[in-house]
Amino acid sequence: MVGSIALDAVKTPFGAVDNVLGGSASYFSTAASFFTDVSLVGVVGEDFPEDAISLFRERGIDIDGLERVAGKTFRWQGEYGYDLNEAITLDTQLNAFEHFRPKLPPRYQDNAYVFLANIDPELQLEVLAQVKHPRFVACDTMNYWIQGKLAPLKAVLQRVDLLTINEGEARQLAQEPNIVRAARTILAMGPKTLIIKRGEYGALMFNGATTFFAPAFPLENVYDPTGAGDSFAGGFMGYLANVDAVSEETMRQALIMGSTMASFNVESFSLERLKSLTYPEIRDRFRAFKSLVTFADLPETTE
Ligand code: AMP
Repeated sequence: MVGSIALDAVKTPFGAVDNVLGGSASYFSTAASFFTDVSLVGVVGEDFPEDAISLFRERGIDIDGLERVAGKTFRWQGEYGYDLNEAITLDTQLNAFEHFRPKLPPRYQDNAYVFLANIDPELQLEVLAQVKHPRFVACDTMNYWIQGKLAPLKAVLQRVDLLTINEGEARQLAQEPNIVRAARTILAMGPKTLIIKRGEYGALMFNGATTFFAPAFPLENVYDPTGAGDSFAGGFMGYLANVDAVSEETMRQALIMGSTMASFNVESFSLERLKSLTYPEIRDRFRAFKSLVTFADLPETTE
């Protein structure tokens, strides 16, 4: 996987943190590491804390593809109102990412499952050019890149099996307010499957002719939605890589596993909840999801 590794400043109605570990790659890798071996490609600056590196190591994440360069780590500052579904970006400093050219260690190049997390689409393309025969490629993106780098983003979309994207960003990318029509427009841009993330209203998966829906888990304590999308993708891709089979059935399970991981992540700021998570907790919540949406069919009638 490739993505941003960040130091974030985040404010929600329930608290604020500054200079904490964030970035799409951090959330994705940590979530996916519960299911599979993760190889990370990214860049940090001189100010990146050692304990964050230790977290990646403890989770067994391969960080040979993580470069450290002179200068500062990528920084993002964001805020949420009581509607936790929409992040307001207050500041983005690319810093270490400004001159970054991803270079995959040779053993990464044969990996079968590839995730291009939210990052400059030109860098996503450079990573894709270095993987040899991927079985399944997925990507994420956000408004920042839809506005600023639409052409390379469209080139990425031509080459992926799956796009995961927020509802608002799907509307923006498709230039279409209706979500079902927006999905059709985006699928025509290249991806075979599209997942539209709707925050506390769950996620919709458009896969060829079928549509599947996962609710968000009803939680009593939601502190910070930052990284929900990346933890979702980590659960989804980690699960698929673990079962090593891509089908409608496994993708439906993966959608629930993604929603499971996202539901844990929003229970704390930064990666605190993911850090303390155990596999039995994941399994229990996956099963709780199942009972949340299982219901009996209507009885047979003649009319
Ligand atoms: P999510 O809430 O899953 O969409 O991801 C939030 C993370 O994305 C934060 O930890 C940020 O550091 C990171 N982020 C914010 N803006 C960007 C950007 N323009 N490019 C890459 N990563 C970003």
